[in-house]
Amino acid sequence: KNVQSVALIIGVTGIVGNSLAEILPLSDTPGGPWKVYGVARRPRPSWNLDHPVNYIQCDVYNAKETQAKLSLLTDVTHIFWVTWANRPSETECIEVNGAMFQNVLDAIVPNAPNLNHICLQTGHKHYIGPFETFGKIQPHETPFIEDVPRLNAPNFYYTLEDMLFEISDKKPGLTWSVHRAAVIFGFSPYSMMNLIGSLCVYAAICKHENVPLKYPGTKAAWNCYSVASDADLIAEHQIWAAVDPFAKNEAFNCSNGDLFKWKHLWKVLAEQFEVEYAEFDENEEFVSLSERMKDKGPIWDEIVKKNQLAPTKLEEVATFWFADVIFSGECMLDSMNKSKEHGFLGFRNTTKSLISIIHKMKDHKIVP
Ligand code: NAD
Repeated sequence: KNVQSVALIIGVTGIVGNSLAEILPLSDTPGGPWKVYGVARRPRPSWNLDHPVNYIQCDVYNAKETQAKLSLLTDVTHIFWVTWANRPSETECIEVNGAMFQNVLDAIVPNAPNLNHICLQTGHKHYIGPFETFGKIQPHETPFIEDVPRLNAPNFYYTLEDMLFEISDKKPGLTWSVHRAAVIFGFSPYSMMNLIGSLCVYAAICKHENVPLKYPGTKAAWNCYSVASDADLIAEHQIWAAVDPFAKNEAFNCSNGDLFKWKHLWKVLAEQFEVEYAEFDENEEFVSLSERMKDKGPIWDEIVKKNQLAPTKLEEVATFWFADVIFSGECMLDSMNKSKEHGFLGFRNTTKSLISIIHKMKDHKIVP
């Protein structure tokens, strides 16, 4: 095959990594034909097998293993950084995520002479601060715009950005782009923060127990305008920045380009799982989703068995803590003006994005 570009996706089984693995190898993808390497820590899952990707199982936190396995990839032209490590404190996040990024740079930059672009995925925490400072520091005004000053709080996103700027200063011809996502709507059952996956599992449990689908968040989050980022759209945004000269060395927000309210999407979720929809009820005591789901492991095992689903454990397919974070926020809007001004006109209809991800979850037998 006459290859024009060679991608290295770090986090290929993640929520956006899996979309990149699906989209990059397509014949009409900009910058193609693409040859694709995909790195993840665990063995390759069945739902990732269809993508024509050279799969490399490697723990990029392990410097030796990363050097041994990735320094061989001398033809890489583009790195897509769609991974992260979660740690209890931001200080540890900075240390671990910084080390992971450095290990990959150390393996690739000296050995891949044609490396010309690195896409770094981060998110809205750039504007509101890391989880541990929520409610403690003043976030930026919404809608978030890219060129505001950094917040005065340690943040692993800032660390990774600085490393990116430094390496591209050192290596002539190496460009970068930063992609700041809102909450991501995507498929991967391996993601550390998969909101829609978690909601599908919650809906399936409500259906199984024959109870209405109650909304486990605040009134403000139910009623306010919200934005989301479809995982395939983020992949398209990164590929655009990887190949378009006008997008180089810039940070961009990356969201669907429409607004929605959770009270409307909640109806869609209920319909898709044929479970009774419940309005937000302010007279009811607030119970978080993590709390509601804390003893449901055995029920999930029953659902998996009864519906002959792909074998999974509740704690693998659902990240309820993340839903609790999202359903306690309010009005986390961003602006897509900068992307549009630079030539990216992609968008998603968030309601359709939700439905298509639910279908994908069902098709792969992750949920009934
Ligand atoms: P993810 O959790 O969906 O996927 C992570 C991927 O990295 C997986 O393939 C996993 O196997 C791999 N991985 C993890 N540790 C590894 C290691 N040590 N070695 C090799 N592979 C490893 O990732 P994500 O949610 O796309 O997160 C990427 C960035 O996007 C993060 O900075 C995150 O904060 C940000 N973000 C995520 C969301 C969301 O809703 N998920 C929203 C906004 C921003």
